[in-house]
Amino acid sequence: MKNATTPTSIERPPVVVVMGHIDHGKSTLLDFIRKSNSTAGEAGGITQHLSAYEVIQKHEGKDKKITFLDTPGHEAFTKMRERGAIAADIAILVVSAEDSVKAQTVEAWQTISESKLSLIVAINKIDKPGANIEKVKIDLAEKGIYLEGYGGDVPVVPISAKTGDGIPELLDTILLVAEVKELRADPTLPGVGVIIESHLDRKRGISSTLIIKNGTVTRGSFIVADKASAPVRIFEDYTGKSIDSATVSSPIAIAGFSELPPAGSVFATFATKKEADACVQNFCANNQKIVPDAYSVPVGTVTIPIIIKTDVQGASEAVVKELKKLELEEVKFKILDSTVGSIGENDIRLAGSDPTTIILGFNTKLDPRARDLNEKTGVTIKLFDVIYHMNDFLKEEAEKRKPRKEVLSVTGRLKIIKCFSKTKEKQVVGGKVTEGKIVDGGTVRILRRDFEIGKGNIVGIEQGRAKVKEVIEGVECGILIESKVEISAGDILETFVTIYE
Ligand code: GDP
Repeated sequence: MKNATTPTSIERPPVVVVMGHIDHGKSTLLDFIRKSNSTAGEAGGITQHLSAYEVIQKHEGKDKKITFLDTPGHEAFTKMRERGAIAADIAILVVSAEDSVKAQTVEAWQTISESKLSLIVAINKIDKPGANIEKVKIDLAEKGIYLEGYGGDVPVVPISAKTGDGIPELLDTILLVAEVKELRADPTLPGVGVIIESHLDRKRGISSTLIIKNGTVTRGSFIVADKASAPVRIFEDYTGKSIDSATVSSPIAIAGFSELPPAGSVFATFATKKEADACVQNFCANNQKIVPDAYSVPVGTVTIPIIIKTDVQGASEAVVKELKKLELEEVKFKILDSTVGSIGENDIRLAGSDPTTIILGFNTKLDPRARDLNEKTGVTIKLFDVIYHMNDFLKEEAEKRKPRKEVLSVTGRLKIIKCFSKTKEKQVVGGKVTEGKIVDGGTVRILRRDFEIGKGNIVGIEQGRAKVKEVIEGVECGILIESKVEISAGDILETFVTIYE
């Protein structure tokens, strides 16, 4: 089920940028994490060095992804910010425990706070004899950066980028901060995101590193960033492996752009070349940047359009103030109009194009003709003369319209022991139910190392050569499954129901 208030949003991995003073260990930290936690498996298995990479960290028993922008230094970041698009969600401010706070530490912090990124401080080089963690904490407080336990709530992790001490804790802290931020995205949308870096490759033409911020980028679609466009054909993950699709927070490489897409520009994808060309033309003719809705409005946010009518100007200002206070993280009010007078036909017409609009009348009345007109439009009109009655109504309305999260509730898990045969999209596999029950006819998620690699449909179950409708925990069985994904021993089949909370 999909509608405006129940977006198919899922949790998305955080995108992290590393900043701090020169020589405090930013590159060493990024190298260490890339080598020790890379999803490419083998340390050093990455042949190509993209300006972003992904790692996996076990967190509360689950494998979680984190994307790192591999471009230390706030110059690159500031440039990106000037163009308006911020790829990162969280910033790590690296401060050397030996040298403590320096000019660029403070500059980087200013950039981080102006960009509204969540901050984590990593105190580095704790392996050095001259390291003084306490001094760094006090020096930071003097500059107005208040750490946990030092008058503030900025998380702090002492690390050594050389020995790796504290790095698992740093990755855990990133995931905790991400959890609090409730980063979500909708993979069913066409992919949108930010260009991180572009260069001319003699063999491949103009190549860029991109971070997907929402939706899915698929092979065969077309990508546009400002005036530059490219078919999604030379399409790789951050390790240089050719891929067919990639989704939220993943760094990808795309080659074959018509011109150099500027770092920091927003990109969008289109199903056809015609749509992509139209977008480029629009940019050239009107200098109109693409800001796809999915990018500018965080997924999972609902906007309530409001028209305010009051008896005096001062009252309408008071109502606007109240509305600001009542906004929730996922519910925003958008004021279409705020004027003095009674609610008239024009107000109904203005509201009529969007039936979710609410017309608020404060110390005013509804014109009879407007009332008649509204029989057809059905917009909500509310009259109040006491501010807290209005607040109660709006609070209730905001709560009612809050987007409900789509949550998968697992009903059964089966571990694959053996794969017997595979014909066109049908596979016979054997496994054991490890949790709940597996029922014939259900859709399953196929998981490999905790990641969904695809979906399938169960079309038959056998238990000891007899056909059965379901199998319960502890039982071994054979399963006939339809799926495009090739299942291997060790994979998990998971049955689920979708609930909305
Ligand atoms: P950047 O300019 O912030 O990227 O700093 P680098 O990563 O290039 O590090 C500067 C120097 O500090 C290099 O010589 C690193 O080997 C060294 N370094 C970085 N982190 C550590 C650490 O945790 N311990 C020690 N002992 N040296 C470090």
